[in-house]
Amino acid sequence: MPSLFVGHGSPMTMITDNPERRFLEALGRALPRPKAILTVTAHWETRGATHFSAEEFPRTIHDFRGFPQELYEMLYPAATSPELQQAIAARAGDIPVRGDASWGFDHGVWGVLRPLFPEADIPVVAMSINHALTPEQHLTLAQRLAPLRREGVLIVASGNIVHNLRLWRGSQGTKPEWAVEFQQRINQAVIANDLAALTQFSREDQAAANAINSAEHYLPLLYAVGARLPEDQVGLFNDTIDSALSMTSYLLGDTRVLDEVALPA
Ligand code: ZN
Repeated sequence: MPSLFVGHGSPMTMITDNPERRFLEALGRALPRPKAILTVTAHWETRGATHFSAEEFPRTIHDFRGFPQELYEMLYPAATSPELQQAIAARAGDIPVRGDASWGFDHGVWGVLRPLFPEADIPVVAMSINHALTPEQHLTLAQRLAPLRREGVLIVASGNIVHNLRLWRGSQGTKPEWAVEFQQRINQAVIANDLAALTQFSREDQAAANAINSAEHYLPLLYAVGARLPEDQVGLFNDTIDSALSMTSYLLGDTRVLDEVALPA
């Protein structure tokens, strides 16, 4: 199974027609069917331990305000996977993880899984971003979970690489130079597996400071690249930027599936 990083953008992408969502829908049809899905979401932030779904059927969380009613009626009724929960706990080693039934599937989870797998018939375990971990520890946890891919587990990390809502508001339709520069730099680092370039940013790096003004949308990327296997190729898709928000996404694995994705006319 591949390891995916998916840029999820605004919840509005779920109810507007856009090429990024159409690509995800086509990708979901082209991917081999996973046994289970592990989704690392920018919208579940914890401190101390990495939490993962523990309810049998996690509820759909509508964690946004002021959007059209249609979005609040969307559900993603997938079940969790006890096997995957046990595997996460067993593989995490000295990195603290724990099951948590108080959270469900936030829009970082269902916003990308609904287009990919609309039937919601594949078990899903969501996993939080633990802010107590260093970037290197996020990578280590991902490396420990990577072998699950060989057992049919699809890894879907959901966030955004360029994500600055303060700079985004009121400037939609623009393409700032710093955003393009930062996105291209990260694209090259992901392709080259240059982990230092993905985790170490100098204080003078204004493009990085703008793009990652809050870390939670960037950190899921470390799970997608940390779960890289030696034979993986890297494919880019949805590599678009609108103001201070990029939708850029990656597939690590057999990238031929991206060539098979035919967009409906
Ligand atoms: Zn988000």
